Amino acid sequence: MIANRSYDCIVIGGGPAGSTAAALVAEQGHSVLLIDRDQFPREHVGESLMPEAYWVFERLGIVHELDRVGFTRKHGVQFVNSEGKESKPFIFADHEERDSKESWHVKRSLFDKLLFDTAYNRGATCVDQTRVLDITIGDKSTHRVTIQTPEGKEQEIVGKVIIDASGQSAMIANRLGLREVYPDLKKAAIWTYFDGAQRAGAGKPELTTILHTESKDAWFWYIPSMDGQVSVGLVGDNDFLLKRGSSPQDTFDAEIKNCKGIRSRLLDATQVGRPQIAKEFSYTTKKQAGDGWVLVGDAGGFIDPIYSSGVYLALKSGMLAGEAVAEGLGKGDVSAKQLGRWTRDFESGVQWIRKLVRAYYTKEFSVGAFMKEYPHHAGNLTDLLIGKVFEGNPGRIFDDLDPYLEKVKSGEMQAS
Ligand SMILES: Cc1cc2nc3c(=O)[nH]c(=O)nc-3n(C[C@H](O)[C@H](O)[C@H](O)COP(=O)(O)OP(=O)(O)OC[C@H]3O[C@@H](n4cnc5c(N)ncnc54)[C@H](O)[C@@H]3O)c2cc1C
Repeated sequence: MIANRSYDCIVIGGGPAGSTAAALVAEQGHSVLLIDRDQFPREHVGESLMPEAYWVFERLGIVHELDRVGFTRKHGVQFVNSEGKESKPFIFADHEERDSKESWHVKRSLFDKLLFDTAYNRGATCVDQTRVLDITIGDKSTHRVTIQTPEGKEQEIVGKVIIDASGQSAMIANRLGLREVYPDLKKAAIWTYFDGAQRAGAGKPELTTILHTESKDAWFWYIPSMDGQVSVGLVGDNDFLLKRGSSPQDTFDAEIKNCKGIRSRLLDATQVGRPQIAKEFSYTTKKQAGDGWVLVGDAGGFIDPIYSSGVYLALKSGMLAGEAVAEGLGKGDVSAKQLGRWTRDFESGVQWIRKLVRAYYTKEFSVGAFMKEYPHHAGNLTDLLIGKVFEGNPGRIFDDLDPYLEKVKSGEMQAS
């Protein structure tokens, strides 16, 4: 049982968004209840981080912890086209020498537990194996959450603020009808793990690699992780992957045969575990905050896994919302305006990642071919892969990329 019936802030979901927000509200002395239905540590997809996540780790004071756990360092990103041709890797440290010049490929069970523990260490009451069954949005200071305890008992808790960090469950957005699916991004994913798959080799940088299949109907992620494992995932249109009358394993195997770059990397590899599936994961929400509630991480929207932006945006929104909630509780203002004060700037950064996602799904587009034509955009593209979308002029690549896409789509220009 949870001892208190009332908290300043209730956070639903102990993923990166929820734990970050909970830590930052609790450290300002407010009472915080962080609830997750799963038992921690728990597995989760999403292992490749963007370098800009560093600044959130620094804010939480856990940079050294990430190295202590021994996560694999991520030095850059590489694209492999449908013919198996590798782009020049986008190496973060070559682009800009700063503290955040590298990132990590994390094991989410360990990573999310580290963040959950950080929230606890900052003063939040953290409970796992506890499911939120219902949320009642009341007037400004009486929101109710009905939970089911690990013993199966139902309990009602009251909070001045509810932070919804329930990931793809998007509890508040679903209840208030705020969720809007992107019609052009109805994708699915099938992924699993391999032992003995190709690694970068001594002295060479480990990368997140994005590989198109030969037909360009799908792409693979290839993420070398700790303990010698590699995460390999296949992403394509929902119907293409899941409605072709074959099992996920058969579809996955068939697309490996259809992808030169993956075939060669998995020559001596052994699959570990059954393939897992995710679908209909791309959506946005009409608004991200109301009086006494705010949405963070996937609960507020998710674009696509291609550029590994999900965890960074979850951490960043968790941080910004956590700061807004802590300040609001401090001055007795939990209005939508206060809790959502960060959402407009956040969206204007995120739009650039969304635009780059749509560029990748333009079948005629090839990153390598575009870079050959416009080499001076390499730095700007690296900025986007790093996650630097909230400062400077992150959208300048689109001055040339938008007209380029129109030309390759109309056949006026060949992309190979
Ligand atoms: C196929 C795929 C591949 C991806 N690859 C990457 C990648 O390489 N890099 C990257 O950065 N991102 C990736 N992502 C995105 C990433 O997984 C998410 O963006 C990230 O996990 C979001 O964090 P979050 O804290 O918002 O939600 P989550 O991490 O999903 O956490 C939500 C938590 O809420 C809990 N919860 C849900 N409902 C309830 C309830 N009713 N009661 C209590 N608790 C509840 C869940 O148990 C969960 O722990 C990928 C996503 C997909 C679909």
